[in-house]
Amino acid sequence: MTVRWKEEIVDEIIDLVGVEQVKLDPETREKLSKDYYWYSPVLNELLKQKRADAVVIPSREEEIPAILAMAYRHRVPVTVRGAGTGNYGQAVPLHGGLVLDLSRLTDVLAVGDGFVTVQCGIRLKTLETYLRKRNLELCIYPSTYAKATIGGFVCGGSGGIGSITWGNLWDGNVLGAVVHTMEEQPRRLTVSGDDLTNYIHNYGTTGILTQVTIRVAPKTDWLQVVVQFADGESAMRFGEKLARDDGVRKRLVSISEHPIPRYFIPLAKYLEPDATVALLEIENGSEAAVEAMAAECGGQVAHTIPPDLYQKTLGLSDFTWNHTTLWALKTDPTITYLQAQFDGHRYIEQMRAIKERYPDEVLHHFEWIRNNGTIMPTSLPIVRYRSKERLYEIIRFFESLGVRIFDPHTFVLDSDSRSDYTNMIKKKKVNDPLGLLNPGKIKLLG
Ligand SMILES: Cc1cc2nc3c(=O)[nH]c(=O)nc-3n(C[C@H](O)[C@H](O)[C@H](O)COP(=O)(O)OP(=O)(O)OC[C@H]3O[C@@H](n4cnc5c(N)ncnc54)[C@H](O)[C@@H]3O)c2cc1C
Repeated sequence: MTVRWKEEIVDEIIDLVGVEQVKLDPETREKLSKDYYWYSPVLNELLKQKRADAVVIPSREEEIPAILAMAYRHRVPVTVRGAGTGNYGQAVPLHGGLVLDLSRLTDVLAVGDGFVTVQCGIRLKTLETYLRKRNLELCIYPSTYAKATIGGFVCGGSGGIGSITWGNLWDGNVLGAVVHTMEEQPRRLTVSGDDLTNYIHNYGTTGILTQVTIRVAPKTDWLQVVVQFADGESAMRFGEKLARDDGVRKRLVSISEHPIPRYFIPLAKYLEPDATVALLEIENGSEAAVEAMAAECGGQVAHTIPPDLYQKTLGLSDFTWNHTTLWALKTDPTITYLQAQFDGHRYIEQMRAIKERYPDEVLHHFEWIRNNGTIMPTSLPIVRYRSKERLYEIIRFFESLGVRIFDPHTFVLDSDSRSDYTNMIKKKKVNDPLGLLNPGKIKLLG
């Protein structure tokens, strides 16, 4: 794709939104053209040079249709940005053009029975704090919630804290959205029901979400508990037992095998040197039941964080999901990761086979989740990176065992990454006929 970038485009954008909302200096363009793709050495090589020609930061939803119409007229690509915490280069403008930074759209628009409607740029931590003051809380959020926006989570994420109870984004957690299309005359769509799947995890390729309605739950007082085990299999069995026990309310069940906990510097002082850990968020009051369950599996409680410190200090969720990889990377920059879905019935067997083949090269890390109603272990295993060839050899080995891989070393959405891909492509062709929304990020069918 050739960008027809001209100085007059800059003048037009400034006329539309004002000079303060348009950033042209190289430092800002570079900063706001990046996300956390560098966790992948493969993506790092491909993306580190990519830059937007300009960054536009609207402060009102009403400014967006005119920006899109202008971009359409000049055939300029538009890549939306929330907080830029995605891991796959989703927010990187492959073909230059505009980065549309929506982080100033932060209003809470409505809150009611089981839902909240917000503008897309609100940070999830801000929203969680807002909800907790009203005796409510988010159902699911990523471990990056301190920075990440709701629009970025819905369009670039999948699940996180809370997914053990409420599932992932596709499991009824997104209730509605306002979407802007990229056409000569951009349309403002109100989307609900099955149509939402065309916009969830879309990398901003099928439309731009300016408002989102999500499911919320009554507030719970969460106790954070670290349980340590002598081995990964015992920790996983405990994780499954707890995950399946509907008598204990929980928000997080995360397992990291030895030696990963050694990377968790602030937690390491509570742990045996060779510990495997389960990091938990459980309802305050259920600790005795959980401690007994842990003891049955050979585990001991090593540390707890009381509910009054919840989300006020470094929390256990800061060591889970892809934060696990981050802690490992801080100590060893040669580390990368995979995204894997193990078989809920054969995961021990699969873990053993991987350990036997790659004893030090692959380290097991799991989160127990409820996916489409089924409790299962999802995984972000840590991998010591040697070469791209070796990485894909490991991926093929996982797949040969029946472990499904969602490749985090590609920035392209395709049929491997989602089941409803064909409908998404159809929607894209209608909403973005010139292919200007985040071009290169979705594989178009023939
Ligand atoms: C340490 C670490 C831990 C992580 N943990 C998790 C986790 O637990 N769960 C998880 O799901 N993810 C996780 N992620 C990935 C990422 O942080 C989350 O998905 C996060 O919600 C992205 O939000 P963001 O605002 O930063 O989005 P961005 O990175 O800015 O955007 C993500 C994608 O969505 C598009 N987009 C953004 N806003 C809009 C909009 N309004 N309309 C249309 N498209 C839009 C962008 O173009 C981009 O393609 C993690 C990443 C890191 C680095």
